[in-house]
Amino acid sequence: MDILNFWTNNIVVFTVCVGFVGLLIGSFLNVVVYRLPKMLMRDWRMQAREVLEMQAQPDAETFNLILPNSSCPHCDHEIKPWENIPLVSWLFLRGKCSSCKEAISIRYPLVELADLWSFFCGHCLSVWCELGSFGDAGADLGFAINELD
Ligand SMILES: [Zn+2]
Repeated sequence: MDILNFWTNNIVVFTVCVGFVGLLIGSFLNVVVYRLPKMLMRDWRMQAREVLEMQAQPDAETFNLILPNSSCPHCDHEIKPWENIPLVSWLFLRGKCSSCKEAISIRYPLVELADLWSFFCGHCLSVWCELGSFGDAGADLGFAINELD
């Protein structure tokens, strides 16, 4: 059984996998939205110091899309992997930090849900496009057969 047959015969598994990938990408988008402006600001400050011939700042902590691990903005509690499952952890923790109980913005699960929704729409659209393609191909075949007559 090839992979296409497997997905075709297990549409529920396929849909769950598509949904999970959508949530993971939504979670990563949250990281990008939070960290990228800070990374750019750090880089611009470093360049400005270089242009102004100022002494470089001592090596600061590594800050990119991967490091450091996510932490609570209120208490710096390092978020454990089970507290970082897209959507599920936010619901399980009832939107609060497990350490200090401060609220976690609803923006995080909303971005994950929006990406989940776009993945499902993309999945459904691709199915409809394929159906449309088959319909179009069928119509073309019909027109071609009419031309032969
Ligand atoms: Zn906290």
